[in-house]
Amino acid sequence: MNIQKHIIQKKNHSIKKEAISNNALKVLYRLNEAGYQAYLVGGAVRDLLLGKQPKDFDVATNARPDEVKALFRNCRLIGRRFRLAHILYGRDLIEVATFRGPHDGKNIHRANQNKEGRITRDNVYGSLEEDAVRRDFTINALYYNIKDESIVDLTRGINDLNDHTIRMIGDTETRYKEDPVRMLRAIRFAAKLDFKMEQQTHDLIFKLSDLLNDIPVARLFDETLKLFQGGYGCKCFFLLREYNIFTLLFPMTEAAILTEAEANNNQDTLNIIEQALINTDDRITQGKSVNPAFFLAVLLWKAMQDYKRQFIKMGQHDMEALFSASHEVIIRQQAHTSIPKRLSLMMREIWHLQAQLQHPTRKRALRTLENKRFRAAYDFLLLRNQVSEQALTEVCQWWTEIQLKSPTEQKKLCDALGYTPKKSAKRRKRRKKKTHTSTIVNDFIVKPSE
Ligand code: ATP
Ligand code: MG
Repeated sequence: MNIQKHIIQKKNHSIKKEAISNNALKVLYRLNEAGYQAYLVGGAVRDLLLGKQPKDFDVATNARPDEVKALFRNCRLIGRRFRLAHILYGRDLIEVATFRGPHDGKNIHRANQNKEGRITRDNVYGSLEEDAVRRDFTINALYYNIKDESIVDLTRGINDLNDHTIRMIGDTETRYKEDPVRMLRAIRFAAKLDFKMEQQTHDLIFKLSDLLNDIPVARLFDETLKLFQGGYGCKCFFLLREYNIFTLLFPMTEAAILTEAEANNNQDTLNIIEQALINTDDRITQGKSVNPAFFLAVLLWKAMQDYKRQFIKMGQHDMEALFSASHEVIIRQQAHTSIPKRLSLMMREIWHLQAQLQHPTRKRALRTLENKRFRAAYDFLLLRNQVSEQALTEVCQWWTEIQLKSPTEQKKLCDALGYTPKKSAKRRKRRKKKTHTSTIVNDFIVKPSE
């Protein structure tokens, strides 16, 4: 790649030192005073230039990780293949990375092996120039030099920033093939920054998106969270669908959306996902917390219900089918994006509680109210009602009301509920006879787990 160095002097750009976090400044200064080069880099420089608040502050330096460690008591080295220094100030973390170079075999700082032959280091250190061309997009390869507060631009990133363009550095196809997750990153930045993609950066996603199938599911899960819980989830969702990538991440959800549209021109699934994302984006804008399990429960709700119907057809009774379907859907989804146990448990609880919320009984309603997932499950019920299920209006009001009452009044409200008779022994027996425990055979293609 043809590299030309452009230095934008302090007076010619908009970054004010005061906008950089104190902890990041401390790290930059200490490195610099010890004689090393120290730059703020990546998303922080991009966002500051755009007048946005950066999510985190990353530092790049020519100091080696152990040299960084020697300078900071609060430093931890992480990563085996790529060693990074994490400098911790309470809960604030500044990541310091040594400039990386290309893996061309000539580099004397190449891999070290321990006695067992395991690679302990695979760092190829390099110069600032080499570090810049290993980054993904030109707008992410701007370096703010703490020494004179200038910006170093080696990839014409400033021009692209001004033109609102996401452009891959180097040969686009090679760089996407090197790391297909860059396609998801391009989409995320297009949504977050409201930028367009440069033609090749855009076109090649259609050609190469299948490469995402080779990415470990745990990494895809992390990227999914960034896409949907980064404050621009709604835009990301529509872009992912436009680029035919959503179907690679959540094939059951995409199938549900398409089936609904084809069958009866119904958009319930699409609408509930959109509404959940609008709410999530709003909460993030307001600095409120969001629960990824809630959103995942929304995404897979329709698929779960379809499975539930199939299990009922196979003879399972309602609750049993609900449990089987929740299990089935989560297992199948994990072939595409992993879901940590903590979250999959919460998703199941949210789904299972829907049944109790839809049919509150005298015996159980108070316990449901005390359930630690009540709030999430109740929000889920409200969302269903708001978007498509008008029949839930009355029961939603009942749950809204009961939460505002004193314990005595709550008990009264529950006592006023009708008595639900237990199923007769004869009926239970009949159901039991019909029940199969076999797993559903269906037409979703499942990727072998990695
Ligand atoms: P944000 O933190 O707002 O999501 P960011 O640009 O800071 O955006 P990070 O994931 O924090 O994104 O990465 C920091 C920097 O590391 C990026 O700006 C980019 O220069 C580089 N980078 C991250 N991931 C990749 C990748 N897959 N390929 C090449 N460079 C990358
Ligand atoms: Mg970042």
